Amino acid sequence: MAATTPVTRRRVVLLGATGSIGENSLRVIAAHPDKLELVGIAARRDWEKLAGIARLHRVPHVGLFDESAAGAAKQSGRFPPGTTYHAGIAGLVELAQLTEADIVLVAVVGTTALEPTLAAIAARKTIALASKEILVLAGKFVMAAARARGVRLLPVDSEHNAVFQCIEGHPQAGVRRIMLTASGGAFRDWPQEKLAEVTPADALKHPNWAMGPKITVDSATLANKGLELIEAQCLFDLEPAQCHAVLHPQSIVHCLVEYRDGAMLAQLCPPSMTFAIQHALLYPERAPGVDSPLDFTRLLSLDFKPVDTGRFPMLRLAQETMVSGGCAPSVYNAANEVAVAAFLEGRIPFLAIPRVVEQTLAAIAPQEPADLAAVLGCDTEARRVAGSLLNSR
Ligand code: MG
Repeated sequence: MAATTPVTRRRVVLLGATGSIGENSLRVIAAHPDKLELVGIAARRDWEKLAGIARLHRVPHVGLFDESAAGAAKQSGRFPPGTTYHAGIAGLVELAQLTEADIVLVAVVGTTALEPTLAAIAARKTIALASKEILVLAGKFVMAAARARGVRLLPVDSEHNAVFQCIEGHPQAGVRRIMLTASGGAFRDWPQEKLAEVTPADALKHPNWAMGPKITVDSATLANKGLELIEAQCLFDLEPAQCHAVLHPQSIVHCLVEYRDGAMLAQLCPPSMTFAIQHALLYPERAPGVDSPLDFTRLLSLDFKPVDTGRFPMLRLAQETMVSGGCAPSVYNAANEVAVAAFLEGRIPFLAIPRVVEQTLAAIAPQEPADLAAVLGCDTEARRVAGSLLNSR
């Protein structure tokens, strides 16, 4: 019999432990106690949920972005004895650089994730990246930092994880284009005129994926796919013309990579985030997954349909921002966030979301940001412009 090889567990810091990516990550980590160990977790402000996770997974380091939530957590006595607390953005940066961590899973929503991600890269941690905004805002800077430090960025977004799996080991010059699949969201089959009456409650019913409200609206407008195209261009060093989207209502094929000879590789798995999360956390090892694989003993249909960019202007706008380059993608992202929040509050109709984004893009001249401060300045300016467009409606 072969001697047992000593197992080194990969030590994980999970930034964004209480969101839907966080919950799925915890399922993956719990399923592989011999391979993965959770050494740090962070959330925005839900310290009670974080305390439950800390107790269940015996996590020594916890962080809360919201300083008063961090204070409440510390006073509560609900965390395991000996817990080290990290507060605010500085706390997230400390967690991202923990000496005892090997991999940092970034699942924090929005621009908050940028500084901790760059800190983790500086500390040469492997990054499992679930947060789109980081690459949309500052892709050039993040990718350059990762290259300079020899840090691996493993995509956790299902489509990008799929592209990664399909292009790994293939020379880049052989790739003609990539196609990310889009479910089409909650109103895929609604007639155009009905879209004017969509309510926030309608928008929150996603046919395939269980996700937070912002991303569920983004899948209905295809802004999510637009952001993903921008993200893919950056991650895989592609030209805008090489990045495409195709409607695929079943959400089983997550990407298609077409090579110069016309051959296509696809990645398939059921629509659960655990597949991509596990791929990134265990990479390059394969182990049994936590959700059942596809069942080919039953009828399985895969449909594909071109995207009508007239119906989904957010996709066209994303493609235009990729061509404009510079800060245009971050303007797109910021204006979309402002417009979606206004829609969810019932302040603007669904069809006004792309109009607000288009007008914001038109109002801000595309420029090449010189540094991260310029990137964040552009984000702030786009939010201001989009906000004033809403107020002038
Ligand atoms: Mg995705």
